[in-house]
Amino acid sequence: MPIGQHLFRSTALVTGAGRGIGLGIATALAKAGFQVALTDIDEDSAARSASLLGDQGYPTLAMKLDVTQADAWAHAVGEVTARWGGLDLLVNNAGISPRGTIESTDEALWDRTLAINLKGPWLGIKASLPSLQRRQGTIVNIGSTRATRPMPGLFSYVTSKAGLLGLTRQVAVETLGQGVTCNMVAPGWVDTPGERLIQAEQGRPDFPQGVSNLTTPEDVGGAVVFLASPAGRKVNGIILYLDSGLHVADDAGMVYLPDEQSVRYHQPIANPFTPPSEPRS
Ligand code: NAP
Repeated sequence: MPIGQHLFRSTALVTGAGRGIGLGIATALAKAGFQVALTDIDEDSAARSASLLGDQGYPTLAMKLDVTQADAWAHAVGEVTARWGGLDLLVNNAGISPRGTIESTDEALWDRTLAINLKGPWLGIKASLPSLQRRQGTIVNIGSTRATRPMPGLFSYVTSKAGLLGLTRQVAVETLGQGVTCNMVAPGWVDTPGERLIQAEQGRPDFPQGVSNLTTPEDVGGAVVFLASPAGRKVNGIILYLDSGLHVADDAGMVYLPDEQSVRYHQPIANPFTPPSEPRS
């Protein structure tokens, strides 16, 4: 039986779904038969993306949702329940990836990153759990390979995604026996509007030119569909890497390479284990 037929009339709420990976996830879920609530802090982008799918005949709902606000979560889950009877799948995708080291990260940036990337998913899970428990639903948190493979200059981001992995496992354990699953999908580098902005700010306006082994929003969408499908029901508390296996080869020597070379890391290279020519002290 095609996967979409089985999932038809299941409902999903995706955060940060106005663009990028969130839109890729919402599209994959709609094609698999989900009724999808596309939410974003940017109400217009959520509405644009929802009508893009609605025009193709998929049942969607667009809502403004700032994931850092508990009352906004209560409202969003209430709307989905009123429209479709409940929630089967929560996808915590909204996130930011600001640059900054231990020293250059100030308290405001730390608070903002942790609020969006870590507190937001907790608030969403808290608001959705009664419905997910009733309907034996699924939670998917969008993490990053950086949750377990830190990189200099991503201080608050790496910390937040590592925290999100802990939260994922904790939720899986606390909901054991309730029929609810909670997993983290960890994409490698993805070409998205947000990432293009960051790369341009970092002096790489031509991103992703020359970079290989990129992950796509469609890849992430496919993984979410799998985790929410009957085939994924026994998968719980895991981190599912979507990075062509790069994290397996990752090591401190490679991530500490200067910037231009770390971009090359994503391209086929003869010997990825060649140490940097200037040993670091
Ligand atoms: P993106 O292009 O910047 O899209 C993120 C969306 O989330 C934007 O529409 C953004 O709205 C929205 N958002 C920001 N703050 C929010 C909030 N408080 N509440 C609700 N929505 C909010 O980002 P992306 O690259 O698709 O990344 C999506 C997720 O994947 C993030 O969790 C990110 O960490 C993760 N990820 C990305 C990559 C990558 O290489 N791109 C790799 C690994 C993991 P505004 O534009 O209005 O702020």
